[in-house]
Amino acid sequence: MSNIPSEPEFEQAHKELVSTLENSSLFEKNPDYRRALSVVSIPERIIQFRVTWEDDKGNLQVNRGYRVQYNSALGPYKGGLRLHPTVNLSILKFLGFEQTFKNALTGLNMGGGKGGADFDPKGKSENEIRKFCDAFMRKLCHHIGAETDVPAGDIGVGGREVGFMFGTYRREKNKWEGIMTGKGLTWGGSLIRPEATGYGVVYYVEHMIKYVGKGSFQGKRVAISGSGNVAQYAALKCMELGATVVSLSDSNGCLIAEGDAAFTPEHVEEIAAVKLARKPLTEFKSKSSYKYVEGARPWTHVSKVDIALPCATQNEVSREEAEALVSSGALFVAEGSNMGCTQEAIDVFEGVRREKGKEAVWYAPGKASNCGGVAVSGLEMAQNSQRLSWTSEEVDEKLKGIMKNAFENGLNTAKEYVEAKEGELPSLVAGSNIAGFVKVIRAM
Ligand code: GLU
Repeated sequence: MSNIPSEPEFEQAHKELVSTLENSSLFEKNPDYRRALSVVSIPERIIQFRVTWEDDKGNLQVNRGYRVQYNSALGPYKGGLRLHPTVNLSILKFLGFEQTFKNALTGLNMGGGKGGADFDPKGKSENEIRKFCDAFMRKLCHHIGAETDVPAGDIGVGGREVGFMFGTYRREKNKWEGIMTGKGLTWGGSLIRPEATGYGVVYYVEHMIKYVGKGSFQGKRVAISGSGNVAQYAALKCMELGATVVSLSDSNGCLIAEGDAAFTPEHVEEIAAVKLARKPLTEFKSKSSYKYVEGARPWTHVSKVDIALPCATQNEVSREEAEALVSSGALFVAEGSNMGCTQEAIDVFEGVRREKGKEAVWYAPGKASNCGGVAVSGLEMAQNSQRLSWTSEEVDEKLKGIMKNAFENGLNTAKEYVEAKEGELPSLVAGSNIAGFVKVIRAM
């Protein structure tokens, strides 16, 4: 792109978006949008800071903290904080870039941002996590605000970490402000926020299934990766709708329900407790009910899959794994994670879609299918501004409406801008990219 050092994840996300814009009639119809693309590609502001904290042994520890304020055309910067040893500027720029268009697809007024640190919560005591979060927010608090930038959780940041950070902000600034979402229910959080990303993915896929006339979730076999917040609630919603969940995983390996076996809600709750304690899946007591494959992701170990939901992290589906999913019969792939599929995997799914009409695999990108999480964050901001709390039913209804719009927006935009053969399913990846892009650059 320029003389800046290589940023593989950011370049991948950027190329992916641009290639779909180029392969549509968008620039032909709107030549001036090319210039807008070069502007929207660069974050408005990047904040980097040093975070020093003291571990349980009294030793000084240091980490790199970041906030990428990508785009504020649609509203305050909005997006999560990731705490993971792999965090660097390339990853946060890719996430902030994706977040900008994802937030646009929710239909709510939110700009895009992302932040975090290369801190590893694994193996840390609760006291150390609290000390880190406190030190991190003492630096970040000068750059955020309810009308400026509203962070939330992402990998490594759940309700507990949001609480530690929110408390620090309140003390440092001497004010209660809705500066973070994913808060606890007793201090400004929204009902359904923890469930929202996972539920939202499932609501989105319900529309995909309905559009091709393949019934509902009832009786479908669903492969899921990950075991964090997104995977847990996606799995529970699939079960509620009568589907069979056949896999879950973490970074060390995967659990497969073989033959007629299936994950149960009780086991998902057990796994949630293991994960909250930041322990690996091998510590899950009922593990023996499933096959455990060390060091593997589920995709090549599951059979007869109808739906695949990657819900772990970026680039968690390779070309080979995408081919394995197609061979095992998968008809729907929707990302709960951000950039869950590599470009090669997307090419496999999109190639089959073009070839096979309605019997094809249909792929939905995370910026559309997982927008339910940040959407309910937007609803949390709205409730905070009004000093009101909505019921679960109200929030869930709004979430359902937002997922329906995100699906239809991508679908109809693809029909408008992307040439397709008779009987070909519209490309949800192209349609969603174009719809998100157009909304942001028109606002700019
Ligand atoms: N981290 C989530 C995402 O990737 C949620 C962000 C938010 O709620 O602000 O969309």
